[in-house]
Amino acid sequence: MQRLAQFLLLLFALAALPAAAQALPAPLPVVASFSILGDFVREVGGDAVALSVIVGPDSDAHVYEPTPADARKVSEAKLVFVNGLGLEGWFDRLVAAADAKARLVVATAGITPKKLEGGLDPHAWQDVANARRYAENIRDALKAADPARAALYEARAAAYIATLDALDKEVASAIAAIPSQRRRIVSTHDAFGYFSARYGLAFIAPQGVSTEAEPSARDIARIIDTARREKVAAVFLENISDPRLARRLAKESGVKLGGELYSDALSKPDGPAPSYVAMMRHNVEELTKALAR
Ligand code: ZN
Repeated sequence: MQRLAQFLLLLFALAALPAAAQALPAPLPVVASFSILGDFVREVGGDAVALSVIVGPDSDAHVYEPTPADARKVSEAKLVFVNGLGLEGWFDRLVAAADAKARLVVATAGITPKKLEGGLDPHAWQDVANARRYAENIRDALKAADPARAALYEARAAAYIATLDALDKEVASAIAAIPSQRRRIVSTHDAFGYFSARYGLAFIAPQGVSTEAEPSARDIARIIDTARREKVAAVFLENISDPRLARRLAKESGVKLGGELYSDALSKPDGPAPSYVAMMRHNVEELTKALAR
């Protein structure tokens, strides 16, 4: 009789095991270094992640001073997502200050970086095919850190990647519709190299791929000369850059001023670019408005 009771207890214990394994843990605490990357993490992670973004909307991820509150977020996270390719020069200081145990995930892993004089171009997200790779890397990191919800991450990533594939085609066909002699523009900092390479629109900019160094008077004079000589179609503002530089370039080169492009950060939720998909659509609309004839 005692044996039977023991056997039944064992049966109950075994039956209870899978149920315990299925009980979902609390949302996974994760950190993303800047707003665009945060949007990718939100798309793949949904409610399963508790996300903190360090450099928020309309802010410049090249230059940032981490705060004690940032260090706290990093020290509490299980995963910390960064762009890499030299974007977040301030990040090592933050991790040192945070005494972090989190796994660091470089979201651009596997992307072929554009090499430039003085380093790599970090703006890989401006090519939508690369955004797909960001989503895959985020999916794989979330699955590894939180296997109980692997199927959820898999499904959300698949849906988002399908959206990105459609967006990639949409951007390509919109840019292809702009007459080729008008596909030459000026922007403030050199953030559109990957966009240029994939979609065939030439950007020239007085400031390099980082906003850390101010452009010199010579850089600005050179861009004004080039803009006049090559008859660029428009000068565009950027949400993270001082608008006075773009206005001056337009005025002195006699080239028309286009709208505002979102290069390195999303807008606030009520702005025109609160998500990556909205940001790419907004940029394409601004380019089309100024350049299509
Ligand atoms: Zn940039």
